[in-house]
Amino acid sequence: MPLNTEPYTGWGRVLTGTGGRLRPEKTAGLKHIDLGPAVGALRSYGDAALNEKPSVDMTRLDRMLAFDAETGVLEAEAGVPLTTLLDTFGPRGWMPAVVPGTGYATLGGAIAADVHGKNHHAAGSFGQHVLSVRLIGADGVAREVSETAEPDVFRATLGGMGLTGIIESARIQMMACPSMLVDVHERRMPNLAAYMEAFEDSTATFSVGWIDATGTGAKLGRGILEEAEFATRETPFWKPRKPPKPVPFNAPGFALAAPVVRTFNQLYYSRISTTGRKPTKPIAAFFHPLDGLIGWNKLYGKRGFHQFQCVLPTESAALTLDAMLREIGQSGLAAPLAVLKKMGPGRAGPLSFPMAGYTLAVDFTNRPGAAPLVNRLIAQTVDAGGRIYLAKDSLAEAQQMAAMYPELEGFRATLRALDPAGLFETDLARRLNIRGMQ
Ligand SMILES: Cc1cc2nc3c(=O)[nH]c(=O)nc-3n(C[C@H](O)[C@H](O)[C@H](O)COP(=O)(O)OP(=O)(O)OC[C@H]3O[C@@H](n4cnc5c(N)ncnc54)[C@H](O)[C@@H]3O)c2cc1C
Repeated sequence: MPLNTEPYTGWGRVLTGTGGRLRPEKTAGLKHIDLGPAVGALRSYGDAALNEKPSVDMTRLDRMLAFDAETGVLEAEAGVPLTTLLDTFGPRGWMPAVVPGTGYATLGGAIAADVHGKNHHAAGSFGQHVLSVRLIGADGVAREVSETAEPDVFRATLGGMGLTGIIESARIQMMACPSMLVDVHERRMPNLAAYMEAFEDSTATFSVGWIDATGTGAKLGRGILEEAEFATRETPFWKPRKPPKPVPFNAPGFALAAPVVRTFNQLYYSRISTTGRKPTKPIAAFFHPLDGLIGWNKLYGKRGFHQFQCVLPTESAALTLDAMLREIGQSGLAAPLAVLKKMGPGRAGPLSFPMAGYTLAVDFTNRPGAAPLVNRLIAQTVDAGGRIYLAKDSLAEAQQMAAMYPELEGFRATLRALDPAGLFETDLARRLNIRGMQ
């Protein structure tokens, strides 16, 4: 099988994978290659899917294998994008129980990162809806793992960032999808305290907030809270999504300069009136607002960008978010894309990101000052008892891992038994010494 030796990047385009990618067309092809870690749609931002040795691109292994229309149990190959599941099964009344902010993430990538969605506070993480995984181990043999068959390996695979082996296919429990539309309630949140109070009071099935990370003083932490429920009436005007439009070139450096971002954010905030707005939207537009623009990461220019995403425990969230947002606002480095969300406790594996509290995600164009700022934010996260999302990170350090992921030692023990030679080790695992071998 030919090796594509082109260097490749994650979504942030700051770090580069140099080891090349094999791209099997059928699962049978996996038996005839030198195994390495799996790569999905490369929607993780940092080096989670990058490697200095050859990796296995799973995106052609995207077949649906079985579906029970009564129970909503689906079996599919790992390379299928979640958006395909939404478009195929949504109109028949089922959808993945958890969808992240992009529908291009593959089933395998969603399991490996144990992704969370706008219903995390109620539905938990993606891995909590996985019934079983067909996993190819370091011996090249595929076997079924689940809560009853090798439960330690199963749990380590959910959120295990691909380090336990290649997910060839999985069985998942989908959730009922009563409508392809959602009724959204968008409200201005004037500051951080009001924002957090609204999240605490919210009973919505789906909730997420845009936050103006350039805000300072009285505007610190202002934003727009979106709460949504499935539309209950008939949905005659739902149509399949329009083909996405590409971003043709890298944006110039000044495109996201501080005054431009401040002006954009002011306009974005003001577009919602003080009394709020209640639009009805196609679910794809609500769950994946950025997917309509292919390659929107080029808007950050050719040097790419970092996304800082932390989760902070409820007890320390208000104070820490306040301090973080002050520092981010004063830096003039934040891009318009910034999200605040309340999370529930649901997580599936020892390396899963979620914890009960608040998650903040902010994009920073990769320009001078951005990496040191993100490093300070990571240090604040660790001090506050929170953790950084491995699927987004490119800057955390190995010695910060154990404090953020207290189950790390148990995960390492599982890996030592599963993959003693580190066949599935990635650049992320080396940088953060996840295997504990350095
Ligand atoms: C616009 C945008 C919005 C996002 N919003 C969210 C969000 O709301 N919530 C959230 O949780 N995440 C979010 N993400 C992150 C994204 O969902 C995760 O990074 C996800 O893992 C990407 O899936 P992928 O198929 O692109 O995997 P990749 O990025 O290619 O790989 C990610 C990890 O999964 C492993 N992996 C991939 N396929 C397999 C496989 N078959 N077997 C074993 N391991 C595998 C890789 O080794 C790697 O460690 C967002 C990303 C973008 C670009």
